[in-house]
Amino acid sequence: MSRTESHSPRADGSSTEDRRRIIRIDRTDPIQRMRWRCPNNHTTWEPTNSHAYCASCARHVGLDPEHYELLDARTGERVSWARIELE
Ligand SMILES: [Zn+2]
Repeated sequence: MSRTESHSPRADGSSTEDRRRIIRIDRTDPIQRMRWRCPNNHTTWEPTNSHAYCASCARHVGLDPEHYELLDARTGERVSWARIELE
């Protein structure tokens, strides 16, 4: 699988297809759990009402535990929560 999207998702409208691509995450798979992280590089997020809540961020003073995007540790890309489907 190649999911290399190095360009900005909001560039000029030409990347509409990329923006709409849904990414399915199987959270029972430890490899995928390690891959998909909160933007602060934690694997301890949980899905909550239409976004992710990160327990590690919550323990850090000054970090916002509510996230609307996840970090793909493999590509370094940030993916909007709207594109993510959990299995
Ligand atoms: Zn976090």
